[in-house]
Amino acid sequence: MTTTVFFHAHPDDEASGTAGSMILTSRAGHRVVLVYATGGEHGTVPQDLPEGMDLAEYRRGEAAASARLTGTSRVEWLGYVDSGMTGWEQNGHETSFHSANTDGAARRLARVLDEEEADILVGYDWHGGYGHPDHVKVHHVAHRAAELAARRPRVLENTMNRDRMRRQLELARQAGLELDMDADAPADDGNPVGLPEKEIRHAVDVTEVIDGKREVLACHASQEDVQFMLRMPEEVFAAAFGVEHYAEPGRPEGMSSGLPFV
Ligand SMILES: [Zn+2]
Repeated sequence: MTTTVFFHAHPDDEASGTAGSMILTSRAGHRVVLVYATGGEHGTVPQDLPEGMDLAEYRRGEAAASARLTGTSRVEWLGYVDSGMTGWEQNGHETSFHSANTDGAARRLARVLDEEEADILVGYDWHGGYGHPDHVKVHHVAHRAAELAARRPRVLENTMNRDRMRRQLELARQAGLELDMDADAPADDGNPVGLPEKEIRHAVDVTEVIDGKREVLACHASQEDVQFMLRMPEEVFAAAFGVEHYAEPGRPEGMSSGLPFV
């Protein structure tokens, strides 16, 4: 049995990024562990937030529901506060993940890696996919935690395939769809999203469990960006989220389509 620790910045990031891989991995009899860096304190506050409950607590409930659907055996929280987007004043708060000491955060994560004797750790690519300060931090903390772990796990970096996205947008345009999206436009931090295809090692086809992935996303329906994804017509959703991509620094080049977590 292989144990994989999926390390995500906020509750809901696992849903759009790696939920299909998590479902396929747990179904194949392997152990899936999920660690969140922050409580998602700066997300959308839902209308039905019960009085006296804070957003982080509400989102912990959503995360637990997500974990049941992905077959995740254990959910851990590193205990940092959401930093908001680039330039937000929250970035600098002393409890924010963005401002946290990288080694300190990595030690918290390495403790989970050691307890689990993790074989694989999943973080994000060098710019966190789209430059969100907490996502960039996930990249650094994941690599440092792998170094600190008693038994060093393989580190995979969840990312988006920029070339595939460009091709899909072109097809959509040819089909007459007007989309205000550009795969090469600067994202939050000025870099275009994800990585070019040649830097991606694993492309996991999750279309077989795409309905399950949508249900996982629906667990986080309090969030506006999730609501946007859930409004996508089925075929658009499948095109956008049917393949999950991972870079793996230090591995030979070329894209493999196998599930790397089994
Ligand atoms: Zn996030």
